[in-house]
Amino acid sequence: MAQAKDFLIALDDGHGMQTAGKRTPFISSLGRAIHENEFNRAVVKFLDIELKRCGFRTLLVAPTDADTSLKARTDLADRHKADAFISAHYDALDGKFDGAGKDPEGHTIFHYPGSKSGAKLASCIHKFLIQGTVQKDRGIKQADFYVLRETDMAAILIENGFMDNLKEALRMVDVQYQKETAIEIAKGLCLYFGVAYVPYVAPKPVAPKPAPSKPATSPDVLHRVQVGAFGSKENAEKLAEILKKEGFSPIIKTEEK
Ligand SMILES: [Zn+2]
Repeated sequence: MAQAKDFLIALDDGHGMQTAGKRTPFISSLGRAIHENEFNRAVVKFLDIELKRCGFRTLLVAPTDADTSLKARTDLADRHKADAFISAHYDALDGKFDGAGKDPEGHTIFHYPGSKSGAKLASCIHKFLIQGTVQKDRGIKQADFYVLRETDMAAILIENGFMDNLKEALRMVDVQYQKETAIEIAKGLCLYFGVAYVPYVAPKPVAPKPAPSKPATSPDVLHRVQVGAFGSKENAEKLAEILKKEGFSPIIKTEEK
């Protein structure tokens, strides 16, 4: 069976945080617009964790918030001979909220036209992507995108929803949706490479430690054995004599009552 550590996965968090135009319309309930990169980089962060847990090696091709050029992203993946390239994005049509039911919706997976490895990777990820949050499935499509064309490995680009659909825009900052997307992509990569997906297991709560008991021998504790206590010193001396005959070494301590 293939081993995850044999494979290097390049992760691309599409765009930079301030890339012009790559954001939702103003969302009044949030008091701001959501930048596309907020979602993309969160998915890449969670995907990186997922893949490392499964044993893969990963390569972040745009680890900063700057808008790393597409060429720099694909060159880095090619130079390291990555085995797969995953680009996370959020779609847009006209950049306006047109009201419920009027905006485009759903997710789409793209691979380079005619790429067999791209098509296979896309179908493996598609299998899991349609299992989570119920969204319109726009299917697997072919596109001549730079990062798909200029990479020497199985490469896909996922548009995980529409920024100009209010319902889907709000999912961009939903941590559960970000994590779920990452888990589904990770499961698809495991299927593609024929390795086992390793799910997250929450650590067991740590039981409180019992208070340490005094050890049997301790340098600051003395255990005395007393065999009698008498008001009359004579009686005490009689008992001491008996003990001496039995081989003990008694001492008599006189103290105030
Ligand atoms: Zn994008």
